[in-house]
Amino acid sequence: KSMSKSILITGGAGFIGCHVVKLFVEKYSQYKIVNLDALTYAGNLENLKSVEGKENYFFEKVDIQDAEDLQLVFDKHKISDVIHLAAESHVDRSISDPLAFVKTNVVGTVNLLNVAKKYWEGELDEHLFYHVSTDEVYGSLHDGGFFLETTAYDPQSPYSASKAASDHFVRAYANTYGMRTVVSNCSNNYGPNHFPEKLIPLCINNIKNNKPLPVYGKGENVRDWLFVKDHARAIDTVFHQGKAGETYNIGGFNEWKNIDIVRLLCKKMDEKLGRPPGTSEKLITFVKDRAGHDLRYAIDATKIQQELGWEPSLQFEEGIELTIDWYLANEDWLDHVTSGAYQDYYKEHYE
Ligand code: NAD
Repeated sequence: KSMSKSILITGGAGFIGCHVVKLFVEKYSQYKIVNLDALTYAGNLENLKSVEGKENYFFEKVDIQDAEDLQLVFDKHKISDVIHLAAESHVDRSISDPLAFVKTNVVGTVNLLNVAKKYWEGELDEHLFYHVSTDEVYGSLHDGGFFLETTAYDPQSPYSASKAASDHFVRAYANTYGMRTVVSNCSNNYGPNHFPEKLIPLCINNIKNNKPLPVYGKGENVRDWLFVKDHARAIDTVFHQGKAGETYNIGGFNEWKNIDIVRLLCKKMDEKLGRPPGTSEKLITFVKDRAGHDLRYAIDATKIQQELGWEPSLQFEEGIELTIDWYLANEDWLDHVTSGAYQDYYKEHYE
């Protein structure tokens, strides 16, 4: 059977990427799905067990900083479209090592744009470069209101500055070279396969192990949260129906203060683990605030809802239940990603 598209999904071994890869491999047997990932600490092929061996799924271990390797992958798989998720993604890490974020998020993205542009030369209008980004590029909201697609960029952390730069490069390639590009900016994701350095999985893991739950400042920072599989569905929607040159904000219409999320997790975990109510809340420990911590992010996702008909499928409490259940049922996964044992898994399967 001839494959109608050959889609390069970068960062497919990461948290969001693995859900995008699984959705595309399972839903579109007529597409060839090529997962390209450098397998940093955040990438884990165990996330993709369910699609391994499928005839439309391929994996390439490549660093997007390496233009020659990228070129080889385009040639080998005759890449027709790109969905770009590979990135350094953790704000705290960006504070201690900003340059790593410039290298992957900025230089890596420009490399990928260059290779795609060259490979698609003469037929740029037949191919799509879809760049997946974050709402953090818009900065911090202090006086109410929401981020719109037209909100001016005002990134405040090294992470968001690097993502903002990459977004600008993608749009510059559309404007300057006529590439067909689309960008989406999404709020905080949560769900299965989330690396346990991020708030929700960290709390689940620490509650389970009776370890302190570090909460920045007073826990007053507000984020909008979206279930990761709903983000993957949105990416599917934007990829297939989004208009080239456009930006789409993706969000959950679901704002929470960090401290309220931590309390909700404590309550649910007490129930799941059969502990007396209030047990886990005692683990809450307020710690020195993150440097330059943005107060509030809130996405207005009306455009994607009205123009493309996408909306979240889950209520937050349902999503949190599913997430907790997944972590409790997948202790091996947690042990592996925290011990680095998944590196051995890679060697066993791919080397
Ligand atoms: P993640 O850190 O879980 O995964 C990133 C993946 O990229 C990993 O598999 C990693 O191995 C890979 N990678 C990192 N550097 C690479 C490189 N140089 N070359 C090739 N692969 C490399 O991140 P995530 O949370 O899944 O985020 C994916 C994308 O979505 C990112 O672009 C991020 O900015 C964006 N995003 C994330 C969120 C969120 O809440 N997590 C929200 C909005 C947007």
